[in-house]
Amino acid sequence: MRPVYLYNTLGRTKERLAPSSPPVVGIYTCGPTVYDLAHVGNLRAYVFADSLRRTLESTGYTVRHVMNITDVGHLTSDADEGEDKMLAGARRERKSPLEIADAYTRLFFEHCQALNIKRPTIVCRATDHIPEMIRLVQRLVDRGYAYVIGDGVYFDVTRFPGYGRLSGVDLAGQEPGARIGVNPEKRHPADFALWRKADPDHLMQWDSPWGPGYPGWHIECSAMGMTYLGDRIDIHTGGADHIPVHHENEVAQADAATGHSVVRWWLHNEFLLVDGGRMGKSLGNAYTMNDLLARGFHPLAYRYFCLNAHYRAKLNFTWDALEGAARALDRLWEAVFALAREAEGRPGPPHAGLQEEFLTAIADDLSFPRALALVWEVVRDRPVAAGEALGLLSEWDEVLGLDLGAAAAGEREPAARNLPGEVLALVEERRAARSARDWDRADTLRRQIASLGYAVEDGPAGPRVRRIRANVPS
Ligand code: AMP
Ligand code: ZN
Repeated sequence: MRPVYLYNTLGRTKERLAPSSPPVVGIYTCGPTVYDLAHVGNLRAYVFADSLRRTLESTGYTVRHVMNITDVGHLTSDADEGEDKMLAGARRERKSPLEIADAYTRLFFEHCQALNIKRPTIVCRATDHIPEMIRLVQRLVDRGYAYVIGDGVYFDVTRFPGYGRLSGVDLAGQEPGARIGVNPEKRHPADFALWRKADPDHLMQWDSPWGPGYPGWHIECSAMGMTYLGDRIDIHTGGADHIPVHHENEVAQADAATGHSVVRWWLHNEFLLVDGGRMGKSLGNAYTMNDLLARGFHPLAYRYFCLNAHYRAKLNFTWDALEGAARALDRLWEAVFALAREAEGRPGPPHAGLQEEFLTAIADDLSFPRALALVWEVVRDRPVAAGEALGLLSEWDEVLGLDLGAAAAGEREPAARNLPGEVLALVEERRAARSARDWDRADTLRRQIASLGYAVEDGPAGPRVRRIRANVPS
């Protein structure tokens, strides 16, 4: 196993990874709240988790990747206020919370698959783990870290001395009652709900020692994480927005319940921004994978866009920037195709020096932009023969997930949305010729299209066009 250095939010330094039972690395990733389609900002968090997993796998570790599906208890405010997002989603679509959860879970994984995000080893739904959550809350009550008030069971942050260490919030600055709308029965404004009592007409509720109710969102992740990874979790991932509340609370409740530090490495991806501000569903500026596909982008154009920025750097989403990523990916696919032809499809042994450079980059806190620069160096500067280059690229694609193998075989649709107008016009003309059964004309047009570097294939859904020849790299 190669040394891997990761930036730990807890402590804010890069540290060498040392899992508790090598070669296995346990990773817990906060999964989506399935009340709506994930937006591409959310998907950035999962591309990041996937690149972490692939990096560890390629450096010799065996990854046990656990991700939850939040289908209850995540309120419209990250504090304990507002409505359950699932109930709001169900009302919006006039369906049951279960139907909403099923539909959006399925779409989430479809979008992940389109992005070549590997399915986690274990996917667990919050509503399937209520007994584990109740047991954890009970442990906190028994150990004196939690108290019961009118609307639920709350964690007492003043009993946990490490509270605030992850995010750097200072409890002393938060006087009781300092926040407007704070539940007056709470002992401290930062105390958070472990269990909420439910009204009889509340749609999702379970029996508990504190009466019928539902779990708080934070306890869900701690309970499921410890169920599948034990009480020593190597790595926990999520977006930076979760540091101050969700993850700070996870640290407090897991460490208080076990008496030791449960998560060793906290890794957070930075935001995807729109117009300089965070992309968020509630902010009304969120694009989904469907919006990208409707504009004709290949899903992997978005993966390339993400990988080309470091996960700890903010990334601004614009259609132009996505177009730029798509064009770069197209050029890469074309270059790989050209290499494969030159090497007659036979990859050579990967060049040791370049291989070393690549692994060093990704093992240095997932420096994917550096890794991609190396990819370009190999296809542009051609420091090694075509076969060797092909060998390297197919190895590296295990980490990048950019379908370079399919590109080598010439099996790629264009990633960028714009086919040249000239090509589009010829394709359209050919379609007309075919429906008029003018086969000779259709053939002539196919050859004309090919001379511009594009192949047209007729499938059940109509003609599909793909590039067959590399453009001159810019
Ligand atoms: P949620 O479904 O709200 O729990 O969010 C799913 C994941 O997306 C979490 O890890 C969030 O931290 C992350 N996330 C939310 N918004 C963004 C964004 N604009 N950029 C990057 N990650 C985000
Ligand atoms: Zn979580």
